[in-house]
Amino acid sequence: MSDCIFCKLANGEIPTNTVYEDENYRVIMDANPANPGHALVLPKKHGKDIFELDSDTVAGAHAVAKKVAEAAVEVLKADGVNILQNNGEAAGQTVSHFHIHVIPRFKKDWPAMPLHQAAVTEEETKKICADLAAAIK
Ligand code: 5GP
Ligand code: ZN
Repeated sequence: MSDCIFCKLANGEIPTNTVYEDENYRVIMDANPANPGHALVLPKKHGKDIFELDSDTVAGAHAVAKKVAEAAVEVLKADGVNILQNNGEAAGQTVSHFHIHVIPRFKKDWPAMPLHQAAVTEEETKKICADLAAAIK
């Protein structure tokens, strides 16, 4: 998909903070993080949502999300992690290329905060990105 921003990010056409990459996936830092360390798992293959992608690609994306969640607990000392995946405008999907949100959560967030943009500097994001990248097994 030549006009898809996440295709360009996933396939390295546009450089971005990368937490993890393998043959089929790239994990990037969300540009408007709901919390420090908010990451997005992007398949390199285009499919606009879960319905358009084959199950192996969807399952593989969740296996990658698990690795990132484990790194977030280890590195950021997250008390919990939200793994979210929106399909369609009605479900809150704003970018039409399947992606999984991995959002570190902390006890201080309680009572459960609605997701909104956190104040995280580019420098903090770069540091977190590098620390997570190093922790992913
Ligand atoms: P959705 O609402 O579709 O589930 O989530 C889209 C997410 O992608 C949002 O959290 C938004 O901040 C993030 N996002 C949108 N455009 C970009 C971009 O160009 N770069 C990065 N890193 N994140 C983006
Ligand atoms: Zn795409």
